Amino acid sequence: MNTAPLMTESVPGTSPVTDGAHVLVDALKLNGVETLYGVVGIPITDVARVAQAQGLRYIGFRHESDAGHAAAAAGFLTKKPGFCLTVSAPGFLNGLVALANATTNCFPMVQISGSSDRHIVDLQRGDYEEMDQLAAAKPFVKAAFRVNRAADIGLAVARAIRTASSGRPGGVYLDIPAAVLGEVIDAGAAAASLRTVVDAAPEQLPPPRAVDRAVALLAAARRPLVVLGKGAAYAQADKTIRNFLESTGLPFLPMSMAKGLLPDTHPQSVASARSMALRDADVVLLVGARLNWLLGHGEPPQFSRDVKFIQVDIDPGELDSNAPIAAPLVGDIGSVIEALAERAQFIDAPAPWREQLAERKARNAESMAKRLAADPRPMRFHGALRAIRDVLRDRPDVYVVNEGANALDLARNVIDMAVPRHRLDSGTWGVMGVGMGYAIAAAVEGSGPVVAIEGDSAFGFSAMELETICRYRLPVVVVVLNNGGVYRGDGHNPASDDPSPTTLMPAARHDRLIEAFGGTGHHVTTPAELGAALTEALASGGPALIDCVIDPADGTESGHLTQLNPAVVGHHPATN
Ligand code: ADP
Repeated sequence: MNTAPLMTESVPGTSPVTDGAHVLVDALKLNGVETLYGVVGIPITDVARVAQAQGLRYIGFRHESDAGHAAAAAGFLTKKPGFCLTVSAPGFLNGLVALANATTNCFPMVQISGSSDRHIVDLQRGDYEEMDQLAAAKPFVKAAFRVNRAADIGLAVARAIRTASSGRPGGVYLDIPAAVLGEVIDAGAAAASLRTVVDAAPEQLPPPRAVDRAVALLAAARRPLVVLGKGAAYAQADKTIRNFLESTGLPFLPMSMAKGLLPDTHPQSVASARSMALRDADVVLLVGARLNWLLGHGEPPQFSRDVKFIQVDIDPGELDSNAPIAAPLVGDIGSVIEALAERAQFIDAPAPWREQLAERKARNAESMAKRLAADPRPMRFHGALRAIRDVLRDRPDVYVVNEGANALDLARNVIDMAVPRHRLDSGTWGVMGVGMGYAIAAAVEGSGPVVAIEGDSAFGFSAMELETICRYRLPVVVVVLNNGGVYRGDGHNPASDDPSPTTLMPAARHDRLIEAFGGTGHHVTTPAELGAALTEALASGGPALIDCVIDPADGTESGHLTQLNPAVVGHHPATN
């Protein structure tokens, strides 16, 4: 296929023609799409070529789920759908994992997949990579569309962008059969079929009565608390949220991906008194945070039995999905918080409550400082995280990607964030495998370098993307907290010489993986070495991986989620 803009006059005197692949790229470009993440193959290779030729950036991955996770993270970071390009059937299914994860996390994303011949697929005659992809995608996405004519591509792209971005953001699947990508159509008709989406996610103002109800509750509260979720970070209403919180003095608790919306060191942050703040609050204002498992479904013991919830969410269906919502505020976060801020003079945080929280913060900070100061050999998680924290404290511009069990739970508490939307992690599913995809998206879309803090098991899911990171020379530093196992590395198999289910190779040298692709590897065994390696890696600006040897006996099975494991007779998670 010709990769230059296709406007041929096939027969003198006839009008110029184009094809589906070109129309697709034109439609994306017209709507401001700048980057495609994907893995090429039949039938979409030329789409990537045409995209490059037309000035879009194409980032080619080694596995579709990583490309999809990158597109999803791009959606979260930019508030515009991230685009992922996949091949038929298996490639599509690999990407679908990320699309489903994006939908679960409320990130706007579009997966465009090529698909095989409809007339063969639909009669199940056994085509190359045969699959009814549209049907397969439907349960996992906000919407799934198929384009059957090149003339409909413009409409389909607009519809996908509108659906992914508006209301509660999420994943959209766009199926484009090979025949449509290759379909030749009149260039003039193709150009006329394109359309630009106007105001993809319009403001949604809350009804004044709903604001009155919420303000009355907040004004009467003796122990008010604001919980900021990743919806609040996504909304890009940073100044509005900060002004509201600072003018009312309300204590706030950031969920993990809302860290940095206000700096974690902000005096009103009660992140280090989390359990007490949640348990003792009498009125909780949820801003872009769902009362799902991450917040104990809004029930005791995490919350008091009498707590009253005010919930700000763009999706009315979210309200009352768990604990009852006393004051629903349906609307976009910017508009709702602005409306609340107009009544800030009626709201405050009573002094006894502030003092109680401050006391608990001080006490918890003291015990955390002790844990971080301990310097045992072999190195443990806390020692390693202290070293990382000390380096990142001076680098607020760094994007932090974080996944693992213990690596996630502990880093979330130790590593402070100071800038909005600079932390990407396992999210609503608590999923492993997002690491390198998210890191690549942050490096491509963001304004600073990336440090991915990875458990060794979590890292393994997307490790081959080190090659992608090196190929594009991205400023990504991967820190592998290597305790040689899933959760921990000292598992025991009582029955044979096979490793235990949780055991990985304790002597694995992850640093050598990146060296294979021309990046810089570091292997460290002490916090001091780790701090020096991280400083050097950030200064170099190039891809690097630091393999940190952690005591295999350090780590809890399933991290903070041990209680979610079924109680199997004879098994003791604590001892592996
Ligand atoms: P966390 O895991 O950080 O608690 P969640 O993903 O559970 O956050 O919640 C995010 C919520 O934010 C979702 O319910 C989503 O509908 C909502 N949301 C996303 N964007 C907006 C927006 N612009 N305005 C209002 N609500 C939003």
